[in-house]
Amino acid sequence: METKIFTIRDPQRDRAAIEAVASILRSGGLAAIPTETVYGLAADGLNPEAVASIYRAKGRPSDNPLILHVDQAERMRPLVTSIPPEAQALIDRFWPGPLTLILPKTDRVPAVTAGGLDTVAVRCPSHPIAHAIIAAAGTPLAAPSANLSGKPSPTTFRDLCDDLTGRVDALVDAGDCGIGVESTVLTLADGRPRVLRPGGVSLEALRTVLPATELDTAVLHEVSPDTHPASPGMKYKHYAPKAHVILLEGDLAGYVRYVNAHAAPGVFALCFEGEQSALAVPAVLYGLPGDPESQAHRLFAALREVDRRGARTVYARTPDREGVGLAVYNRLLRSAGFEVIEV
Ligand code: AMP
Ligand code: MG
Repeated sequence: METKIFTIRDPQRDRAAIEAVASILRSGGLAAIPTETVYGLAADGLNPEAVASIYRAKGRPSDNPLILHVDQAERMRPLVTSIPPEAQALIDRFWPGPLTLILPKTDRVPAVTAGGLDTVAVRCPSHPIAHAIIAAAGTPLAAPSANLSGKPSPTTFRDLCDDLTGRVDALVDAGDCGIGVESTVLTLADGRPRVLRPGGVSLEALRTVLPATELDTAVLHEVSPDTHPASPGMKYKHYAPKAHVILLEGDLAGYVRYVNAHAAPGVFALCFEGEQSALAVPAVLYGLPGDPESQAHRLFAALREVDRRGARTVYARTPDREGVGLAVYNRLLRSAGFEVIEV
């Protein structure tokens, strides 16, 4: 398949490119678009054939539902049976932004979009180019992360090209994504607010609006493949480079000691800026120590970089879990297949 590339930096100035991408989407095509979290692989979320082609292009299991992206909160109304006051309070506080809400769906949402569930996930992105493309397409866009299934989500145009060139109709080059980890997924489907996936909106921030918000056990614990986690995506191996990633839990001194004792060809460190000088192995850096935002921004690109540099084993520094750090920790745990060593 020929993949067209559109460079878009400004939704007003690059209006013709926005229209071209929207027209591809309206006619059932696939286009990878930037969002404030990670790049998304978009299609008309109400067109079952278009949605089916997202699963094929990504190699995504068909029971792992997609998030519908809307350009304004009003557009959520036809997609869900009702918007309870808890959802409205979160929408008022966090939309547009990296918060996905799950509610019982209406028949307007095709089964294939919802992965066969009776609920649907919806969010309203704040990225101006995403906003302009959704508005011009005039339909909610299903847009999972634009990686091949299992790989780290793309946050740079280069990583996007590596995964999807030749597999989709269009790629939008809008530079690097800001936040760097995906949206927070919160369900209100059974009335009780519960975070199924931590992300760009922190648990602490959610609790300022809904203090009873809980964290699903699958966020920090491995779920066995034969159980039915609330978020189907949680049962699949995820965010994983080819290299074997191991999380080292402990302070910097313990980390340095452990890594240096295991130095060998193919062994890499995944650590924070400024920590590499004491290490006897090559290091890939993901953000500043004690700064979850910069760690989130860099994590997925760093996980891809270790593969490009030929790493076989990667010892990763464990991030703090405050704020967006919980999402960083959750993604690293999954990329390590829950392998954690205390140092
Ligand atoms: P991605 O689109 O790659 O960011 O992944 C979307 C995440 O949201 C996956 O973990 C899905 O399993 C989850 N998700 C989407 N729709 C639903 C839903 N209706 N119920 C529960 N989880 C969902
Ligand atoms: Mg994904």
